[in-house]
Amino acid sequence: MSDVSALTGLTLKDALAGLAERRFSSEEITRAHIGVVEAARPLNAFVLETPDLALEMARASDARRASGDAGPLEGAPIGVKDLFCTKGVRSTAGSRILGNFTPPYESTVTANLWRDGAVMLGKLNMDEFAMGSSNETSAFGPVVNPWRAEGSNRDLTPGGSSGGSAAAVAADLVLGATATDTGGSIRQPASLTGTVGIKPTYGRCSRWGVVAFASSLDQAGPIARTVEDAAILLRSMSGHDPKDSTSLPGDVPDFAAFVGRSPKGLRIGVPKEYRANGMPPEIEALWAQGVAWLKDAGCEVVEVSLPHTKYALPAYYIIAPAEASSNLARYDGMRYGLRVDGSSLNEVYEETRAAGFGDEVKRRILIGTYVLSAGYYDAYYLKAQKVRRRIADDFDAAFAGVDALLTPTAPSAAFGLGENNADPVAMYLNDIFTVTVNLAGLPALSLPGGLDSQGLPLGLQLIGRALDEGTLFTIAGALEKAADFRAKPRRWW
Ligand code: GLN
Repeated sequence: MSDVSALTGLTLKDALAGLAERRFSSEEITRAHIGVVEAARPLNAFVLETPDLALEMARASDARRASGDAGPLEGAPIGVKDLFCTKGVRSTAGSRILGNFTPPYESTVTANLWRDGAVMLGKLNMDEFAMGSSNETSAFGPVVNPWRAEGSNRDLTPGGSSGGSAAAVAADLVLGATATDTGGSIRQPASLTGTVGIKPTYGRCSRWGVVAFASSLDQAGPIARTVEDAAILLRSMSGHDPKDSTSLPGDVPDFAAFVGRSPKGLRIGVPKEYRANGMPPEIEALWAQGVAWLKDAGCEVVEVSLPHTKYALPAYYIIAPAEASSNLARYDGMRYGLRVDGSSLNEVYEETRAAGFGDEVKRRILIGTYVLSAGYYDAYYLKAQKVRRRIADDFDAAFAGVDALLTPTAPSAAFGLGENNADPVAMYLNDIFTVTVNLAGLPALSLPGGLDSQGLPLGLQLIGRALDEGTLFTIAGALEKAADFRAKPRRWW
């Protein structure tokens, strides 16, 4: 194989076929990706490139294939969000407080990927502790979206918190990437970069070795360039893990087998409460287009009601910080990462945490500590938990009559870096269509539906019943075909 440029930009599926047919080796396709990763440093998508490790893994993969022992992802170079602990490879969660923390163990999700033959190109940038919607809270600086508005040189956000994962996939730096989603961090960046992302049912992917943000909401999933690629990656990432008590038992379906099936006869709900005030007309139009595509494919589309939707964002921004304040208590300068010395134990705690956490993380810790404190617990945390129950009940009622829901993924296309920084609530509003799903533990997928008038991608979201990712892949496959989204970012980096 000589034409290196032909080895990047393939779908994961085509790359796996090329590897299986020995048209190129893992070493060749990995080398090609290492080259484009280096050339794309202006995007700041990686916080750590691991080219030597990648080549070592690629050669081992080629040897496995030669001995007739190829796994489902054999030889495919991918990227890993820096929230996943990787053995012997620095893992930072996008924070200063973890310093040069180098885990002595591997997260279950990444271990599953390596078991299936994938190759790691490096660790991907992200919002600090996955808190954010624009990648601007990262201690390593923001990721720049490979997409730019037509005729503009302005740097845009790739979304967050999995902005590095989404940008790397959109810019063809990796064949796919791991990501995590606590309130939208897989789906919103996918929407802003024209990629496909799925947050599976809570418990599908093990949280073991994933740095914790809000444990009852955190869930891993893939970002990929096609629906089928996302299905292939999710299958490898998923599976029961005795090391995570919330991991679901049971077999993992062959998700890719659901892509390409006809969605004919499926009932799709359109939640009327998602028609939020001030929804940009282009988002509204894309949503209507999605409905039309599904009707053309033989689906029945009906309006449904999720009456507690308006409480979802406030409930999320109580529950997620509450859990975060507890999870982040472990960063005390004693066990791992940064330590700033002081004259007393308390001073070491204070100085370390003051220097190690960024502003957004501190804000969440303060809010979380407040809503859990005696006297406020009932008014905030307990109330939010009750709202969470109501939101889950809303979905249960809706799913009595429909197989899936269709909504926009995000309320806008990619916005400028720095544009939403002044007001945290403006940033939180990015999650308006995504957090409900995390509160209810349901699977949801975002796929590109089209471009806005500035030439920027817009995503559509499908929400499914618990454990019914298969139906989402079927519907998403049909929408992908109808949307025929082929646009790519113009290369400026
Ligand atoms: N943007 C949301 C937040 O900041 C969601 C983040 C996530 O899903 N990790 O909490």
